Amino acid sequence: MYLMRRIATRNARPLELLYLALGRVGLALAPALKLCGLERLERPAAWFESWSKGALFDCRMCGRCVLSKTGMTCPMNCPKQLRNGPCGGVRQNGNCEVQAEMKCVWVDAWAGAGRMHRGGRLATLMAPLDHRLKGSSAWLRSLAKRAGDGDAAR
Ligand code: SF4
Repeated sequence: MYLMRRIATRNARPLELLYLALGRVGLALAPALKLCGLERLERPAAWFESWSKGALFDCRMCGRCVLSKTGMTCPMNCPKQLRNGPCGGVRQNGNCEVQAEMKCVWVDAWAGAGRMHRGGRLATLMAPLDHRLKGSSAWLRSLAKRAGDGDAAR
């Protein structure tokens, strides 16, 4: 998992392009998905998202994905679960102060963001985590928001 995470960060740009392409496909399918009812798709979407992003990013299903802002590095792998980092306790070798054998998630996030076209977005302050969304599909929420479905986009 840790190795996959690091590989994802190193390949932030191709993954960003993949995300953009999948986002366009999702948006094209949005009318059909809305007909099915986005609420009905929540469980299968959350399962697929957890499986795929778990393998690639060690996703913790926080429900509000910020990978596209954090260099394709999941901030929920930070032992302090900071949404804005790093914390100031980064070791001289760039590793985490809590888990000394692990590269600081936020050091990776900044490196990954630098490789991305939209890397500058990391410089903006991120909203606190809404724990009520834990376990839900961030993809579906994002799609609903982009497709203008206010209820499902909460
Ligand atoms: S930010 Fe949230 S949804 Fe995105 S990969 Fe991390 S835990 Fe998963």
